[in-house]
Amino acid sequence: MEARIKLSFEEMWEKIIDCDSKYDGLFFTAVKTTKIFCRPSCKSRKPKKVNVEFYYDIHEVEKAGFRACKRCQPQANHSPNKELVRTVIAFLVNHYKQKLELQDIADHAGVSIFYLERLFKKETSETPRTYLEKIRVDKAAHLLKNTDRTNLEISYEVGFQSSSNFYKVFRRLKNCSPSEYRNQTRKEMVQ
Ligand SMILES: [Zn+2]
Repeated sequence: MEARIKLSFEEMWEKIIDCDSKYDGLFFTAVKTTKIFCRPSCKSRKPKKVNVEFYYDIHEVEKAGFRACKRCQPQANHSPNKELVRTVIAFLVNHYKQKLELQDIADHAGVSIFYLERLFKKETSETPRTYLEKIRVDKAAHLLKNTDRTNLEISYEVGFQSSSNFYKVFRRLKNCSPSEYRNQTRKEMVQ
């Protein structure tokens, strides 16, 4: 049995509000009122937060009586290659705090580095390295929005080896600095 992804309810809620496809396949959004379940990236109208339950396993959500959404088709695409990539992404989400070498990731997936990189690129158009950076920046964004920890604390908390690298990657992915991001999202919450 592989480990479940370690994301809080609030983090998963943020992903579905953003229609974030990076986490597709890692968890499912089940809507208690409609009995339908979706991928995180589903573009349908968002359910009310109180009506949402999250499942990690497609068999569990189906067993609980939910039907797959016709729009985002969360049950589709279960090829062995997609499964392997999903396993790798779950590993990245659960181990983002650690210093991860490509070899660690390949070992976890039980394949060679060469095969890992080629397959990962084919399925996601990214490398495991850039995907991990995105997961780290998502974590940082969540902490900037919801905690008072400093930028420096957050950069190490989410696994960056230096704060200058954190600032560089954050700006590239979010088009603003960590402090600007914090100010913007705080302002939105007050409104
Ligand atoms: Zn859907």
